[in-house]
Amino acid sequence: MFKNCRTWGMALVATGVNAVAPALRALRIPAKEIHVLRPGFWHRYELSELNPREWEALCDGCGLCCLLKFWTEDDEIAYTNVHCRLLDCSTCRCRHYPARKKIVPDCIKLTPGSVREHAPNMPSSCAYRLRLEGKPLHDWHHLVSGSRETVDKAGVSIKNRGICETTIAPDRLAEHTIETP
Ligand code: SF4
Ligand code: SF4
Repeated sequence: MFKNCRTWGMALVATGVNAVAPALRALRIPAKEIHVLRPGFWHRYELSELNPREWEALCDGCGLCCLLKFWTEDDEIAYTNVHCRLLDCSTCRCRHYPARKKIVPDCIKLTPGSVREHAPNMPSSCAYRLRLEGKPLHDWHHLVSGSRETVDKAGVSIKNRGICETTIAPDRLAEHTIETP
């Protein structure tokens, strides 16, 4: 999930994560259910039991994982409102999702195999982190609310609130620190 010191120097860590469907061979579900969203899958099944479509659907689309972050002197993660250059901040979507790793090599793919390792560094509201910790999704999550807009209305997403990394100087990143989500 976490990027390395991609742009911001040795002391800084930029962070990006995205959800990647689990490998089919790792799934233990009937073939006929591979591409369907099973009722209540987000609370009925473990992350490792989700099919590829369910895995993708679990993402709340907040965009928080595409924000740049850095380690503080206290060894804590500081979030900024500066986002990856591939993020469309008006939709909170990656502009080149299928090819993102080629364009941004240090974009970390979140998978069933890596989620446990990376969850502690995810925002506390992240659906993958919540489910890994055995917690329910928030009311504003689209799977609960039935609307993709509730993550924005709840003030969780970074829709139209971020600044692209290409518009600021690397040594000014700390000036864009925000409260940890
Ligand atoms: S490459 Fe795409 S998914 Fe990865 S951090 Fe950037 S915007 Fe997010
Ligand atoms: S739920 Fe939010 S933080 Fe978690 S992977 Fe999806 S966009 Fe990123």
